[in-house]
Amino acid sequence: MSLIQKKNKILLVEPEFPIPTKSKNHSNFLPIGLLKLATYYRKKGNKIKLNRGNHPAGFYPDRILITSLFTYWADYVKETVQYYRKIYPKSKIEVGGIYATLMPEHCKEHTGCDKVFLAQHKGADACFPAYDLVDVDYQIIHGMRGCTNKCPFCGIWKLEQKNFKNIKQIKKEICSNHIIFYDNNMLVNPYIEEILEMLAITKYKERVIHCECQSGFDGRVLMQKPYLAKMLKKSRFENIRVAWDFPYNEDSVRMVESWIMLLENAGYKRNEIFVFMIYNWKYDYTQLERKRAKCFELGVQIADCRYRPLNQTFDKYNPRTKKQTSKDYYIHPNWTDASIRQFRRNVRKHNICIRYKISWDRYDPTLERLNSRKRLIQLEVKNIT
Ligand code: SF4
Repeated sequence: MSLIQKKNKILLVEPEFPIPTKSKNHSNFLPIGLLKLATYYRKKGNKIKLNRGNHPAGFYPDRILITSLFTYWADYVKETVQYYRKIYPKSKIEVGGIYATLMPEHCKEHTGCDKVFLAQHKGADACFPAYDLVDVDYQIIHGMRGCTNKCPFCGIWKLEQKNFKNIKQIKKEICSNHIIFYDNNMLVNPYIEEILEMLAITKYKERVIHCECQSGFDGRVLMQKPYLAKMLKKSRFENIRVAWDFPYNEDSVRMVESWIMLLENAGYKRNEIFVFMIYNWKYDYTQLERKRAKCFELGVQIADCRYRPLNQTFDKYNPRTKKQTSKDYYIHPNWTDASIRQFRRNVRKHNICIRYKISWDRYDPTLERLNSRKRLIQLEVKNIT
């Protein structure tokens, strides 16, 4: 056996997902797994290229590693596999990521790839992402993997094994003044207090660090450890989100009210706080509307999320179309196409009213189409007329 390892030409590909060009580098969509794989394979001396979409590589790759996201974007992965198969028929094509891990058999058959890669690549996951391949002004840190909960609508606990990083591991990774934590349930990290203390005082290039948590925070943990709210504020966490994914009743209202109070007392403005809500799920439109109205009363915004089952392989929901059916997208038995569209409209109106501190009946739909500076001017004009 030769001791000299063959160096490969490896093409890393993000499929042509339906993400607007201006949002490609948004932290929600950055192909962080591919950036870690880039570092991993570079270290081994391989030639690497990242393609975001379907276009020639500029060399003939030995291997093509394609990432996947939601299961309902399976067709985009298939298109990408077929595109690269056609121009590089001799390359080995492998698909990894969320869809591949949740539905490996479907992925292999549907896309026609050579291999499906399950879960995280342990070697790559320990690597620093190759940020030189993208143009972003933030960094992503996975402070934990997996989750201590098992919410029925969520795939995290099926996709990732529970694992927490400590303060030393996180500190070593810091290379930006803006950190987005990809943690699924950050506050349950057993080292959370020391991590937040460290973030509050750590500087990068002589400047303090601002943080966000992509998944939001578990209000129940905040209730058990109320001091964490102030620690979050001190470590400059922005875009604070908490999840209300249980039913509307007196107890849940009391609970959500106390989370908001805790965050407000820690220094967050109410209209900058978001409450996550999952709709098109087991709680119907009436329940969701009650929750939304309560949030309006509390003066907080809503981050709504339309439920799709974890094995849903298509989603052609079009907000501009007046009517669609379950042939186009998943509609939960407790919901209808009309109620889904109405709830979305209500949330948009809700957030504009809260953000710009206007009453429900002073809302004007043109406000949504203007950029924020123009909106403010328009509101000022409205207020004096
Ligand atoms: S707490 Fe969040 S990440 Fe954890 S299982 Fe529930 S929804 Fe998923």
